[in-house]
Amino acid sequence: MPLKLEIGDKIATKKPHPCGGNQFEIMRIGMDFRIKCTTCGKEIWIPRVKLEKRIKSITRNGEAVPK
Ligand SMILES: [Zn+2]
Repeated sequence: MPLKLEIGDKIATKKPHPCGGNQFEIMRIGMDFRIKCTTCGKEIWIPRVKLEKRIKSITRNGEAVPK
């Protein structure tokens, strides 16, 4: 079952961004997701399937969302 992700959700990924940060914010949702690294501010496109595999945790409105 696909994960329920919403714009504005903060996610932590298993693999860090090259800048060292592993916290991202969801900017756009679709077949491809646009996520923004909250450490360096860089935005990247990533296919949904790939993103789902990399997600370690999700935070929405400051609360942890069960996967
Ligand atoms: Zn970064």
